[in-house]
Amino acid sequence: MSLIVMKFGGSSVGTPDRMRHVAGRILARQREGHDIVVVVSAMGDTTDDLIDLSKQLNPNPPAREMDMLLTTGEQVSIALLAMTIQAMGGEAMSLTGWQAGITTEPVHGRAKIADIAPDRVHAGLKEGRIVIVAGFQGVTEAGEITTLGRGGSDTTAVALAAALNADLCEIYTDVDGVYSTDPRVVRNARKLDAITYDEMLELAHLGAAVLHPRAVEYAKQYNVTLVVRSSFTDREGTQVKEEAAMEQGIVVRGIAYDKNVARISIMGVEDVPGVLAKVFGALADAGIDVDIIVQSGVQDGKADFSFTVSGDVVDAAMQVIEEVRGAVPYREATSESGLVKVSIVGAGMVSNPGVAAQMFQTISGLGVNIKMVSTSEIKVSCVIDAEPLNDVVRALHTAYGLDTNEQAFVGGPQVRR
Ligand code: ADP
Ligand code: ASP
Ligand code: MG
Repeated sequence: MSLIVMKFGGSSVGTPDRMRHVAGRILARQREGHDIVVVVSAMGDTTDDLIDLSKQLNPNPPAREMDMLLTTGEQVSIALLAMTIQAMGGEAMSLTGWQAGITTEPVHGRAKIADIAPDRVHAGLKEGRIVIVAGFQGVTEAGEITTLGRGGSDTTAVALAAALNADLCEIYTDVDGVYSTDPRVVRNARKLDAITYDEMLELAHLGAAVLHPRAVEYAKQYNVTLVVRSSFTDREGTQVKEEAAMEQGIVVRGIAYDKNVARISIMGVEDVPGVLAKVFGALADAGIDVDIIVQSGVQDGKADFSFTVSGDVVDAAMQVIEEVRGAVPYREATSESGLVKVSIVGAGMVSNPGVAAQMFQTISGLGVNIKMVSTSEIKVSCVIDAEPLNDVVRALHTAYGLDTNEQAFVGGPQVRR
């Protein structure tokens, strides 16, 4: 008998009808003869709504209380899904993150899973039940409730699949697989039969919301067989695995974008050893992740440099820059929000030198200015203004030969958002 972990995202369980539909799919899978563990997210836009609600009462809510609040969304889903399955004649039980034995590091808002002791999951399965676990949440050793970061239910599913030694982890969502880019932006995007862990990891880190980056990391680390597929159709999804064949003549597997980028520039910094270490050390101490860093030429012993951070933390980052001014004197620091980062990803890029140049030509051909660039063996990223983003993504998609003649599947006919 095989064990399957099935994960359903928020839009897949957003209404009672959808909840029933999902329950039906779970029961059908069980009837095929598998043991089933389900991971589920909060219904629809619940998490966003809870965040909005909290902001009305405290513009800067404490991280501990945010986790306490946001985990309620998943707790609603697991209970409703379990009772829906019971109503349809199945045997199901719900478990919160801590009941499922998911321990995390003591960090609020984006905790990493430290350990999973899924005794109660095993016990439920042994009794013949479908075990439904709340995604996105865990508990610290000290008993504090934590969350894994936005989109983190994918990570719960993959980590559980690894801990349970499951045969398969299926991520059910509102598109029918991983596409060459967000099919909401490019309707004739290319659905991928398979993608490598490394490429998916890169796409996820660069903004492709379809999988949480840490879920892909765990899948790679523990060799979890991972499939992304639709909640609403039976079409085959996309396999995420160690190796995936590339179509002849295609070097770029996918295009991702991150819509929430800010650039900070520090001008007129003394060009002496240790300056970068002090600035980025202080940002790291404040828990601020820095992405692209560019240092420009030195003039009169003074240097300018720029770097990007998430738009959410730009104010906090500017405050840190102000605080280090005593240790690192500079002439001026500025910030620019509302930028986006668009990236191309493909494992074959390293052996195809013209790929980056083609990206720059395509973007500049639209009259769009590239503000920053960063490259690795399997990706090139450009920071640009937000306004032309969709046009840039579409032009790149065409330039790299990724367009198809088919319309991507987004949502479902009877269950469109
Ligand atoms: P869920 O609630 O099921 O977790 P998400 O909204 O987190 O769903 O992720 C699915 C969404 O990811 C899709 O609706 C799609 O707009 C977006 N997406 C971004 N990039 C891609 C891609 N390359 N392939 C498929 N979907 C993508
Ligand atoms: N409900 C959480 C979120 O909206 C977790 C998830 O959906 O994966 O981010
Ligand atoms: Mg998601």
